[in-house]
Amino acid sequence: FREYVLGLISKSRTTWDDIGGLEDVKLLMMETVVIAALKKPAAVQPWRGILLFGPPGTGKTLLASAAAGSLNATFFNVKASSVLSKYFGESSKIISALYEVAREKAPSIVFLDEIDALTTRRSNDTSEATRRMLSTLLTELEGFHGEGNEKLVLTLAATNTPWDLDEAVLSRFPKRIYVPLPDKEATKAIVRIHTEGLDISRLDLDAIAEESVRRLYSGRDIRNLCQEAIWNMIREENKDLHRLAGLPFEELRKRSLRTRPLEMR
Ligand code: ATP
Repeated sequence: FREYVLGLISKSRTTWDDIGGLEDVKLLMMETVVIAALKKPAAVQPWRGILLFGPPGTGKTLLASAAAGSLNATFFNVKASSVLSKYFGESSKIISALYEVAREKAPSIVFLDEIDALTTRRSNDTSEATRRMLSTLLTELEGFHGEGNEKLVLTLAATNTPWDLDEAVLSRFPKRIYVPLPDKEATKAIVRIHTEGLDISRLDLDAIAEESVRRLYSGRDIRNLCQEAIWNMIREENKDLHRLAGLPFEELRKRSLRTRPLEMR
């Protein structure tokens, strides 16, 4: 189990500036992280767990990663569904091992992605193994983690379907933050982040942002759109290379226009 948990670790280099928009969410998280990391917590018990909820691809993982980056913390990226499918029946041991290693390597951010997969209220699965895993998780979330940055273990959980969460789990996350789809300004900020270093002066950012908001694009969609645009640019710049390699340039250009992300919905 330790081996598996150690494989979930990464050092995050994400900063708050890598996240476009979400200004209020970022501020709330920065405050939480700073207060949680204080050597001497105030009379109020700092949050040990935060639930991030909202549509897919809006930056929940990115936020957790930035929290880890800002604290120079060990980042544990745990996808609940893969723990369950790999270790069904023994997932409670994984959870114990996870928090044991997180404490050893503190400060740590444990990111539990798709937490609904662990705790679906509607699921009929009340097997002994699931109950044991949940009770271990709840104990770890309640647990005393000591004071100070070097002992900090902060759990960030994410879900797209908060209404599916088990009451017992929800109650362990009194701090809940909604991560919304980007608005116009946020969309422009995300485009700038994902085209950094490129000349985008010819782009009509306002028009792109308007269209993107109308189509309910997420940050992930906007990133994909930027990558597609960059691909097209590279293709245009390398026409000769295509000819040399015998690649049908015009055909590829037509196809890419047909499959570009803006047409996906
Ligand atoms: P899911 O709910 O599907 O797990 P998520 O909310 O965790 O999604 P992320 O994994 O953080 O979303 O986002 C996917 C990718 O989309 C990020 O790695 C990033 O490249 C891009 N992205 C999403 N939101 C933003 C944003 N606000 N600013 C910059 N990039 C973003």
